[in-house]
Amino acid sequence: MDRGEVGGIDPKVVRMYHIVYKEGVEHLTKAGIEEAALDSRLLLEYVCGTDRNTLLAHGEREVSEAEYERYSSLIARRAGHVPLQHLTGEQEFMGLTFVVNEKVLVPRQDTEVLVEEVLRNLHDGTRILDMCTGSGCILLSLLQYSNNCVGVGADLSAEALAVARQNYQRLQEERRKMQASFVESDLFAGLRAGERYEVIVSNPPYIKTDVINTLMPEVREHEPMMALDGREDGLYFYREITGRSKEYLTSGGMLFYEIGYDQAEDVCKIMEREGFREIEVVKDFAGLDRVVYGSWFG
Ligand code: GLN
Repeated sequence: MDRGEVGGIDPKVVRMYHIVYKEGVEHLTKAGIEEAALDSRLLLEYVCGTDRNTLLAHGEREVSEAEYERYSSLIARRAGHVPLQHLTGEQEFMGLTFVVNEKVLVPRQDTEVLVEEVLRNLHDGTRILDMCTGSGCILLSLLQYSNNCVGVGADLSAEALAVARQNYQRLQEERRKMQASFVESDLFAGLRAGERYEVIVSNPPYIKTDVINTLMPEVREHEPMMALDGREDGLYFYREITGRSKEYLTSGGMLFYEIGYDQAEDVCKIMEREGFREIEVVKDFAGLDRVVYGSWFG
């Protein structure tokens, strides 16, 4: 423990876990990273293969030269506003671990509200379409927490679908079997005609183009523009998906959306205009409107 203090002789400084952690916190704080302490701890745990307990109870653990170098380089990238999840390659969502990279939107906690709402409306064997599936987090969580449901995830981005397929495979191996397929498709264009779903769910891009520049650098510089940009009024995808969804819903089928906090009224109107009924708005944990859903009795 006190190897570093042996008098006189050039001591090879032992890098202690809690000191290395503090260096990280300082570096990130100076760089203006909001969650400096949390991110420093998580990166150190990622590099060392440790858990939360290490900082609390084993702060004197030695950090090896290799670990220290790796940690320092990750801290430097985080200081440059690279999202934490792009550094670790993962994000927790619905209690499951999802692989992520810069080709998909990092799963957000807000989206769990959407998944919970859909789960309440699933029965065994429901056919689900996840439009703009990205990492696949919505569809795969729904399949993990239901029985014998069948899912299709559609996305315009082949690179996003590669991530979704990787998540599918990993969850099959580590958790339970699911029945999912992923289709490269410009909205409904690549789907098989005549195929109907009891549930269509989507967290489409919904940020107004003008607003994207005002988002934090982690988002505007590192997350895929394609996953964010809802065009001029932010509502483009709600209009497109709602209109076309009727050709793909069974009678009595339900359409579920995640929305931006100020879009409930507009999205409800779009759904009403297209003939959806029993339209409801659900709030997130912060009390903001977050989900809109409705039924179609075609
Ligand atoms: N469905 C994915 C998610 O909710 C991706 C959403 C998107 O790219 N807009 O994370």
